[in-house]
Amino acid sequence: MTGEQAEAVVDLAAIAGNVERIAGATSAAVMAVVKADGFGHGAVPVARAALSGGATWLGVTSATEALELRTAGLTAPVLSWLHSPATDFAALLAADVDVSVAAPELLDAVAAAARATGRTARVHLKIDTGMSRHGATADGWPELVAWSRKYEREGVLRVRGVWSHLATADSSPYGVTAQTAAFTEAVAYARDAGLDPELLHLANSAAVFTAPRTHFDLVRAGIAVYGVEPVPGRAIGLRPALTLRTQVIMVKRVPAGTGVSYQHTHVTSRPTTLALIPLGFADGIPRGVDGRAQVLLGGRRLPIIGRVAMDQCVVDAGDLDVHLGDPVTVLGPGDDGEPTAADWAAWAATNPHEILTGIGTRVPRRHEGKGTVASDAGARGALPLLHHGRKRR
Ligand SMILES: *Cc1c(COP(=O)(O)O)cnc(C)c1O
Repeated sequence: MTGEQAEAVVDLAAIAGNVERIAGATSAAVMAVVKADGFGHGAVPVARAALSGGATWLGVTSATEALELRTAGLTAPVLSWLHSPATDFAALLAADVDVSVAAPELLDAVAAAARATGRTARVHLKIDTGMSRHGATADGWPELVAWSRKYEREGVLRVRGVWSHLATADSSPYGVTAQTAAFTEAVAYARDAGLDPELLHLANSAAVFTAPRTHFDLVRAGIAVYGVEPVPGRAIGLRPALTLRTQVIMVKRVPAGTGVSYQHTHVTSRPTTLALIPLGFADGIPRGVDGRAQVLLGGRRLPIIGRVAMDQCVVDAGDLDVHLGDPVTVLGPGDDGEPTAADWAAWAATNPHEILTGIGTRVPRRHEGKGTVASDAGARGALPLLHHGRKRR
């Protein structure tokens, strides 16, 4: 702790090591997805560490996120993918950011921005291959392709990529096969229509390790970069990068029968010591994990009891000798027995992504390590083992 009563420490060497691991699992280029402030880890430091680990692309959802990377001085290729008619495409083009387009209306907006800025927009066309979320439908694809080709002829844009997103890479190989087939078909259609995309991309983290046929030219890795295992039931040996720490800010001994926190959803069954920690649901501790969630305090896993409040929650320390200021680890890589983001996800019936991105802005992020796994090429093969050979629980 550095004088903060809570902090999220981000291990940049772990980020770089995880990216090395991802890069080692594919012959495609690696895009590190740093949306949502790098899944809550801090987009800019994560981006730097990911690039040092072998990523060559950065992926974000919005103009705001893309421009933050550029403002920080990052010059690597960036793709931004969720836009609306209100998106400042001119700013994106001026910042040399590739833009995804999934609707002809937005293609018009990109073309207008290209004319206004005198830049040739680099566009990645998104096809919906079965997720029914973002992307042009198969029915809408011919129109999107035709308009793109028209604008290409005018010289205002170039279709650099065609891409899609997988719905079930972590669960259903059948779904992946169907989506890959639909993707290949859409690409063939675009090529027949005269487009010449050099970057085809479909895979997310899970697909990197389960579905090589989806890798094409580029894989987009998010959760694996942060060290959360992307494939259920399979340990790839990634290292969680974030540790959420706090400290005890109040200790009290209470008798049996004491109601704890709002609504007294928990009543003590014996005399016990309550330790208060200054993190609540505004900081990303899920509400309603009473009786399931645990933290590491005094070398022991201890339960959170009662309702998690906005700013604080109560740990049942039993008869443990607890003092004001004692360190508490809420989540981390698990080295010392602390819960992981995956444990929290299970307790809160969500995924680790939501746990990590939910850590509030009130919790300062501190970045440790330079994130350079290999300052010289000779060390490249050996160093990742440092992270991945560690004892895990
Ligand atoms: C978030 C996101 C990713 C990363 O997904 P992971 O499963 O976390 O690797 C990739 N592509 C798109 C379009 C995304 O929105």
